[in-house]
Amino acid sequence: MELDQIKKQYDKYVLATYARTDLCLVKGKDTVVEDINGKKYLDFFPGWVVSGVGHRNSYVVKRMKDQMDKIFHVSNNYYNELQGELSQKIIENSFKGKVFYGNSGAEANEGAIKLARKYGSEEGRYEIITMTRSFHGRTMATLSATGQDKVKKGFAPLLEGFIHVPFNDIDAVKKAITKKTVAVMLEPIQGEGGINIADKKYMKQLRDLCDEKKILLILDEVQTAMGRTGKMFGYKYFGITPDIMTLAKSLGGGLPIGAFVVRSEFADVLQPGNHGSTFGGSPLICAAALGVFDSLTKGGLLKQCNIMSSYFKKRLIELKKKQPIIKTIKIVGLMIGLEIAVEDASNVYKKCLEKGLLINCTQGNILRIMPPLCVTKAQADKAIKILEDVLSES
Ligand SMILES: *Cc1c(COP(=O)(O)O)cnc(C)c1O
Repeated sequence: MELDQIKKQYDKYVLATYARTDLCLVKGKDTVVEDINGKKYLDFFPGWVVSGVGHRNSYVVKRMKDQMDKIFHVSNNYYNELQGELSQKIIENSFKGKVFYGNSGAEANEGAIKLARKYGSEEGRYEIITMTRSFHGRTMATLSATGQDKVKKGFAPLLEGFIHVPFNDIDAVKKAITKKTVAVMLEPIQGEGGINIADKKYMKQLRDLCDEKKILLILDEVQTAMGRTGKMFGYKYFGITPDIMTLAKSLGGGLPIGAFVVRSEFADVLQPGNHGSTFGGSPLICAAALGVFDSLTKGGLLKQCNIMSSYFKKRLIELKKKQPIIKTIKIVGLMIGLEIAVEDASNVYKKCLEKGLLINCTQGNILRIMPPLCVTKAQADKAIKILEDVLSES
């Protein structure tokens, strides 16, 4: 089929909830994707970083193929071997606790919010402090939690009990705490918000404050987990441990999965009948997630991320010297934001696409670049050359 025909089909049958680019991808392997006309692209924003370890990562494919011949889905009223194995893997790589599975980032956050509310219910505590410019999802609870008006408009009444404070401002959190506060929830690095990195000192102060006031610290690691920051989970970069962390995107290697991990101390807050998800943690999806862990450890991608992070940093600093239109470089691991000195950088995004580089643009003037962790130096060079050409035209 031609792109035009597909677009017509969409116009007629698919709800128009997205601003779509004229691009139809049909194939992908690791960092390279191919469109319907056979044109190849470097994918430096692989499906909102769902394919964080690369498209059809070989370890993910292997685990899935093994499982394909066995069984796809098993109800959570029964046991399945892979859910146990994956949970052990997550816990052994994070902190002592337990895991619950859903199917998306929003669902992971929704579960964390429910756990917090249950935890505070006997004392009448239900307020959750979240950050401005945060993004936690599109369900009613998670959009109420999100600190950006644009996602909320038209959906009132929202879920009550969310208080938004500025990011990286410990005094604002202190001031917002009341007798009803039960949790603080934030992304350690805001993604949609424009790659805003929490200060390490702020994170430590938050941790101490939460301990002192018996408030749960919930980290939304939907974007920062699975090696993205150069550590298996983003919180490790900040030297603190959350009470709950939520996962999704990269965890499934391209397949839908969401999860929250809760410290042992709070692992019995939710009891049988309190929460559930029909699809959550099914064997085929868990197999894919186990493949993601394989790729990061056995496959060396966690190491590779750190090597490539230093390389990108060096090359981007060189680029900034040549292209003063770049105002700031924000980088942790392979989570990269370039602030551009224009109001609307969407043209840069479009021109990069024409030249065969897929990136993202958020908050108007932040170029968001999150290549798969398997990206090579040659691919990085090629992408930076494209960026340089596009920026010199801007
Ligand atoms: C993408 C994202 C979500 C929402 O995930 P969905 O799978 O789209 O529901 C939540 N939090 C953060 C930080 C995200 O980046």
